[in-house]
Amino acid sequence: AVLAAGAIATLAEVAGDVQRAAGAAERLLELLDTQPAIQSPANPHPLPMPSKGDIVLESVSFTYPGRAIPALEGFDLHIKPGERVAVVGPSGAGKSTLLALLLRFYDPSQGRISLDGCDIRSLELAALRSVMGLVAQEPVLFSGSVAENLRYGDPEASIERLRTAAQDASALDFIEALPQGFDTPLGPGGVQLSGGQRQRLAIARALLKNPAVLLLDEATSALDAESERLVQQALDRLMVGRTSIVIAHRLATVIAADRLLVLDGGKLIAAGTHDELITTSPLYRHLAALQFGGETL
Ligand code: ADP
Ligand code: MG
Repeated sequence: AVLAAGAIATLAEVAGDVQRAAGAAERLLELLDTQPAIQSPANPHPLPMPSKGDIVLESVSFTYPGRAIPALEGFDLHIKPGERVAVVGPSGAGKSTLLALLLRFYDPSQGRISLDGCDIRSLELAALRSVMGLVAQEPVLFSGSVAENLRYGDPEASIERLRTAAQDASALDFIEALPQGFDTPLGPGGVQLSGGQRQRLAIARALLKNPAVLLLDEATSALDAESERLVQQALDRLMVGRTSIVIAHRLATVIAADRLLVLDGGKLIAAGTHDELITTSPLYRHLAALQFGGETL
């Protein structure tokens, strides 16, 4: 049973990480009435492992079924192995759609997306999604113990590995303070966690999964200063050595990024570092003032 699905944005995380749990993703897709048409190819191309996390979009456009206006239009983009990319743009610009296409919840209407040189439509869906780790805006937790929730990242993980991941996610202290530690039940009748604790569990789950590509939709809701600091530390550890694409809502994230992508109306209108875009992109300057105006480093 899902504790906190609700928003469509969380669907990606559910379907991506839980497809091992027989049929759960399919049931959720039906439940939430989204497009069930994406399938694994009959003869999938083997993905060279380990993945380098090299992502190329060529002339990618996408229009949601039943919509007139494209959500993404004419995207050309090469994200290199290990690169840290932050995506910014007003609401409705296409940021979440970009992540949904990378996870292959939809296929482009035009153009192609490739991973390590392979069109993602030619790859086995499970192989593609095993390479992609998602930390969604509202992390999804399931009824079950803390340990069971973490093992969605790796069903085989030993308790030692759970502890290490929890430690790296700045989550070990609060888990150990729970009434039954890693065996504490979450959800109805169990313990309710704060937003910051849920995020750190999601980060621990992603660490266990050890994906070559990390997709992160940063939480918009404000955390208290202590949670903010712990989540930031956890994310810094999570991003090391992986390609990461972060929908950024925080100044610290855009400053740390190798490259920022500015989206507007489904188009990639500018790219560069924070310092470059502040001088070259009026939209970025506007967004930065709105969003980060009160923030200091
Ligand atoms: P952002 O994440 O930047 O706020 P989205 O990628 O969610 O933007 O949305 C881009 C556009 O696609 C918006 O116009 C939005 O209304 C539309 N859109 C998003 N999700 C769906 C959907 N599931 N069905 C139809 N239209 C959608
Ligand atoms: Mg979004």
